[in-house]
Amino acid sequence: MFDVDGWEVVSSVRNPWGRVPLTDGGRLLAGGARAYMDRLVAQQHATDSESRRHHYVPKAYLREWSFDGKRVWTFDTVTGHVKPLGIADVCVKENFYRVTGPNGAPHNRVELMFGVVDTELRRVQHLLTSLEDPEGLEFDDLLGLCVSMALQRMRTLQERRLFVQRNRWLAAQNSDQNPVIADDANDPHRIAGMHTEMLFKGMWDSADLLTTRQIELWHDPLGRFMTCDAPVFLPFRRNVRSSLLAAQYVIWPISPNRVVALSNNLVGEKVLIREAKGEMVGMVRRAVEQGRERMIFASAEQLDRFPKRRSYYRRAQSRLRCSDRSPEGEYISPPGCFVEWAVAFSVDPDVALCKRGLHTDAPEMWSHT
Ligand SMILES: [Zn+2]
Repeated sequence: MFDVDGWEVVSSVRNPWGRVPLTDGGRLLAGGARAYMDRLVAQQHATDSESRRHHYVPKAYLREWSFDGKRVWTFDTVTGHVKPLGIADVCVKENFYRVTGPNGAPHNRVELMFGVVDTELRRVQHLLTSLEDPEGLEFDDLLGLCVSMALQRMRTLQERRLFVQRNRWLAAQNSDQNPVIADDANDPHRIAGMHTEMLFKGMWDSADLLTTRQIELWHDPLGRFMTCDAPVFLPFRRNVRSSLLAAQYVIWPISPNRVVALSNNLVGEKVLIREAKGEMVGMVRRAVEQGRERMIFASAEQLDRFPKRRSYYRRAQSRLRCSDRSPEGEYISPPGCFVEWAVAFSVDPDVALCKRGLHTDAPEMWSHT
């Protein structure tokens, strides 16, 4: 969400599915996409849910790695422990999607909307896990895949933490324009409200960006793929996360045997199924290791491959740099300065800005590392 050139659709390349972008940021919804949106909107009028424990990675998604349908082997990068945990007890946070309505009353309808999101995610996951013949895929399956990946990427604890870091920096620069977003007595669910609002506003733009890419399915007969608590990821290069536009691959493991890799190399096929070589397995493993917030999951057969040897003080953090170019490449003459946002793999926020008096320090960012 915070890539500096994140949400712009610049590709003019046609993909085998039709024109680009496919939904025009949600303004052109038809067929399955329209029905999906209708199902989401319908939840706003549904009877409120009592549920308090909200999963930001669906339980059904993780079941692909489970050894008994209920539990999954986990590696906790904070404690260093390897143990089986109930699928219901991982990637879960109390009231994570509980928000305050316009009338001031808190409710769980966002969690109900994620029920719709989970159902579609599970549908495409199952479809692609068992896919043999790409020609059988429908256009709605492509949209379902891209919107599921886009939402999964944005809805995690990690993205919320980065969202708050970014807010704290912006608030330090100009608190009138960018007030601090924090939970308080007036609204104990303000951060959840702002994060989820941004996420649903951005979902079609973000899905459109993914639809411009080539779908690759990597198949590993040895079942060596792992996943994590932020399971749609962009690999890091030299400890800086690739932007959504520049990334060679946007990766989503869907089972120990399969990974969806959205590539920037269009070859004009609906889906390119590739046998996973060691380097592809290694790339996913490394991306899981760097991209996780805390937990890594593997199948029972892969326990000894958990990347346990490293110290895990580092994870995704905001990275800020000054530039004299806008994301569009436009030159900004002095004393102007463009602040480039990216995500670094580091212990703390990585902020190195010019000392020309243009920027204010934002120590509050360090309260959310
Ligand atoms: Zn500067």
